Amino acid sequence: MDARLTSIGRDGSFKFCCSPQTACFNECCRDLNQFLTPYDVLRLKNGIGLPSQRFLAQYTRRHIGPGSGLPVITLVPGDPDRLTCPFVTPSGCRVYADRPSSCRTYPLMRMVRRSRDAADLVEEYRILREPHCQGFDTAHRQTVNDWIVDQGLEEYNAENDRLIEVIRLKARLSSKALPPSLADRIYTALYDLDGFNERLHDESPAGIHVERMGNARTNEVARLRLSLEWVKQLLEKTLAR
Ligand code: SF4
Ligand code: SF4
Repeated sequence: MDARLTSIGRDGSFKFCCSPQTACFNECCRDLNQFLTPYDVLRLKNGIGLPSQRFLAQYTRRHIGPGSGLPVITLVPGDPDRLTCPFVTPSGCRVYADRPSSCRTYPLMRMVRRSRDAADLVEEYRILREPHCQGFDTAHRQTVNDWIVDQGLEEYNAENDRLIEVIRLKARLSSKALPPSLADRIYTALYDLDGFNERLHDESPAGIHVERMGNARTNEVARLRLSLEWVKQLLEKTLAR
């Protein structure tokens, strides 16, 4: 059987249950090519207790987004042959409380686009049925809304949508890859949150006021939002010519 995708609305329901008792336990944590969002990194590096620079060096690999031309990161596999997640253990996920958004969303997929006539982002969901996943063999039924709440996805989706605004801006301004020095600064702002915070006072090239950063220093999520705004301003300043 091949993987199957089916559309489902927020109120639509689906049968699914995943637990350590499932015969396929941990099967979904291999054969990975897992991208991390900036908010995923924030949660993971804090959950593990590493500064962002060390987390990135130890667990991630940097690439250029094939569609966006922006820097993106993937997890480095724990076992390069089986492409296992570096956080999977025989008893399950060792970063479960801070697992990335794609792990929380599975077996759903979330797609986001901007509506033609509205400023708001519109989200769509699909159910992904993969042959190895036996979680569908259950009577337990829930709606997509239930799943979003149960998996703690609301805050992840809200923060990840801010990255989509960055990607959309880059696409509007330029389809080309970024010059390396610009890509480096954007990589730092998006993913190396601790390093960026240390250096922002010196840089401030996008005209973000230091007072705002002063308030944001106490709150990492606020700092991340500011980093994303900083990237948008930097893109506008350097590409909108
Ligand atoms: S982060 Fe956890 S849930 Fe996600 S792939 Fe890795 S081990 Fe599995
Ligand atoms: S393959 Fe499906 S049911 Fe099995 S552990 Fe992963 S998500 Fe759960």
